[in-house]
Amino acid sequence: MARLASTVAGTPHSGIREMLALARAVPDVLNLGVGDPNFVTPSHIIEAAAQAARDGFTKYPPSEGFASLRQLLAAKVKTRNGLDVTEEHVVVTSGGTGGLFTSLLVLADPGDEILLPDPGWANYPPMAHVLSARPVFYPLDPGRGWAPDLDALASRVTARSKVIVLTSPGNPTGGVHHAEDLTGVLELARRRDIWVISDESYDEIVFEGTHVSAAALGDADRVLTVFTLSKTYAMTGWRLGYVVAPPAVAASLGKAQEPVVGSTSSIAQKAGEAALTGPQDCVREMCDAYRTRRDLAAAVLDGADVGYVRPRGAFYLMVDVSAAGDSVTFARTLLEREHVSVVPGSAFGPNGEGWVRVSLCIDPDVLSEGLRRLAHVVAGCSRDRLTSAGTLD
Ligand code: PLP
Repeated sequence: MARLASTVAGTPHSGIREMLALARAVPDVLNLGVGDPNFVTPSHIIEAAAQAARDGFTKYPPSEGFASLRQLLAAKVKTRNGLDVTEEHVVVTSGGTGGLFTSLLVLADPGDEILLPDPGWANYPPMAHVLSARPVFYPLDPGRGWAPDLDALASRVTARSKVIVLTSPGNPTGGVHHAEDLTGVLELARRRDIWVISDESYDEIVFEGTHVSAAALGDADRVLTVFTLSKTYAMTGWRLGYVVAPPAVAASLGKAQEPVVGSTSSIAQKAGEAALTGPQDCVREMCDAYRTRRDLAAAVLDGADVGYVRPRGAFYLMVDVSAAGDSVTFARTLLEREHVSVVPGSAFGPNGEGWVRVSLCIDPDVLSEGLRRLAHVVAGCSRDRLTSAGTLD
């Protein structure tokens, strides 16, 4: 076989996939690793999609998305995110993933450095690799709810820095950034003339306080904000996201999509219109369910004296397993001994080491039983380590 392109061939798979593959081989596994809502897309959205297909929305849509949907999205970000925009600022993308990749494609040249949160979403570094750009991690601070460490971020900026990626609410952290931290990042970006991509895929899943959009704080001319309907409306399979950017950048995003995906599914776009114009109780109900599961998880972990950072949004929880050794060994041990699957924190960057990610997208009974077993293994591993340390003495 002829040689494949080195960029993709040399890009490592995300550690999440590896763990999911191992978990699939365990028939009675309790899977606390999934990042896909266990809710079905609300029926009025499904109905609207079927109707759209019957009505003939089966042709190529424009590369930037239907104007009707872009207008609705502009209205949504105006009222819910405080961004003063029109449809000219909005481009419909293939999920948040497509929005992020196209944004990086438009902003980063080969060799440019992209500053990524650590721990952060596992798909960011492969995106940088595929574009021949260099991922550079900046640490989030678990002691401050996984807020960005601004001094550490500033120290990593070089003449090649092109983009800072912010994620709030965060995956895997569940951290929701405060306005002061976002302002600090924006000031740094302005001083060093760097773009900001603000990944706000979980903007509607916030448990306490409010979600602040970075671009609402100023400097909107250097911020590209990525949103998706995947999490808000349990629509992960529909592949529908959008980017809000200065109009000239938005035009480039539309152009950049043409050779990559052409455009986003016309039927999914019509479903998106129904999601935005239909009843919004489903959004609140799902968010409430994730909050209840967060509280349940916290109660189990508190009862077992296992450390974690209390998430304020998204649907993940980072559990401290540092007493039990490295996160990959811990996750494998947990799977083998207790048939519980979690994602090792190291899959999200070096600063995720010592933690594992637990998902709140699952049945509450499975969640609490899985965490009870996890706590059991943490206690057992810590004892083993203490014993072996004692033996060495
Ligand atoms: N950004 C973050 C932080 C995510 O966690 C995800 C999905 O898990 C995405 C973006 C992409 O979402 P999608 O492509 O499903 O819209």
